[in-house]
Amino acid sequence: MKMRVGTGFDLHRLVAGRPLVLGGVHVPHSTGLAGHSDADALLHAVADALLGAAGLGDIGKLFPDDDPRYAGAASADLLREVASRVRSLGWRVLNVDSTVIAEQPRLSPHIPAMRESIARILDLDVALVSVKAKTHEGMDAVGRQEAIAAQAVVLLHAD
Ligand code: MG
Repeated sequence: MKMRVGTGFDLHRLVAGRPLVLGGVHVPHSTGLAGHSDADALLHAVADALLGAAGLGDIGKLFPDDDPRYAGAASADLLREVASRVRSLGWRVLNVDSTVIAEQPRLSPHIPAMRESIARILDLDVALVSVKAKTHEGMDAVGRQEAIAAQAVVLLHAD
């Protein structure tokens, strides 16, 4: 069995007047992530991990942020497209692990919904999808609630 591992990282600024969407889940908060799409940093990190593992580049190459087709795009749709390209090369996802780094809001109540959402987008059993949450101990831009970051690791396998 062939296996490939990939990592993904993303960070978006928090601004007023935007909804906060993480892992495809709307999280009630006073600020949201700024970006060309819905700026879902967690789904972007998972997408980059999938693309990295499959050797397909990165999300910015596939969906350029100056392309009007992706203005306001739901990152769930972008991730679904990424997963379909990865599958078309014969790869299957063994598991996904991820971490969201946010000072506020508290994410633990939303983690089960994020796991289910990612599992649904990738057509996986929820047991294969892990989402963890950390704060940044009040330090740097994430700690000052100016941004939210996410990291992901994906393992692919093929016969
Ligand atoms: Mg992004």
